[in-house]
Amino acid sequence: DRPALPDPLCLNPVGVIESDFPDKFGIPRQPGLATAARATLVLVPPYDDPLTVRGLSAFSHLWLTFVFHQSPERWTPLVRPPRLGGNARVGVFASRSTHRPNRLGLSLVELIDIDTSRGVRLTLRGADLVSGTPVLDIKPYLPWVESRPEARAGFAPEAPSTLAVGLSPEAEAALQCREDGDTLRELILQVLGQDPRPAYRRDAEARIYGVRLRDLDVRFRALQEPDGATRLEVVEI
Ligand code: SAM
Repeated sequence: DRPALPDPLCLNPVGVIESDFPDKFGIPRQPGLATAARATLVLVPPYDDPLTVRGLSAFSHLWLTFVFHQSPERWTPLVRPPRLGGNARVGVFASRSTHRPNRLGLSLVELIDIDTSRGVRLTLRGADLVSGTPVLDIKPYLPWVESRPEARAGFAPEAPSTLAVGLSPEAEAALQCREDGDTLRELILQVLGQDPRPAYRRDAEARIYGVRLRDLDVRFRALQEPDGATRLEVVEI
């Protein structure tokens, strides 16, 4: 029998994400792969009562449960993890796919600050969430029970490899003019280092891609090095 759940399962977002990522394209596949990525979790009424976060600042990391609200409700039993090149298929429950029943996501993020001067706003680092993501729950991370370095991680045993990323002189000059130029440079290098190009396009002819980070459209292309390695170059910001 199906478990007895309140029907309809009444889940209300406790907050909404405002992040460096206005679009899904370009967001790293897991939190912590772009530690320069900033996000703010703005709690919504009635959860924006400062009492809800009393004691939370004593924890450095949080689990966020959220909804992949930009994914379709339709799901399939098999999915194609980008990590496997986009062709091999695994069961949806053997993946961290964004296309899943109930569309629930789980991210471990670093807590930087809590502002309760007007409602409750949590400043986070390393979130892999697009702006507007509804968050259903926040829990403090407990490393003594949840950090399991001995665990087997199937087809995703370690962080994905990264590409070398360069900045054209024009792009570098544009960063110099910005107050947040240093953190933005770090974010660009980390995000592009994850090679955000779609798996099926990675061998395609050189073309200019665009990824929006903060309020910028970062335009980049892939270059083949003499040794065959691929390097991404930011051509325009
Ligand atoms: N760490 C979470 C997990 O394991 O459940 C998310 C992993 S998922 C592979 C990360 C990707 O989700 C990002 O690269 C981004 O493209 C996508 N994403 C982020 N926010 C989303 C949203 N609100 N709706 C749909 N997709 C989203």
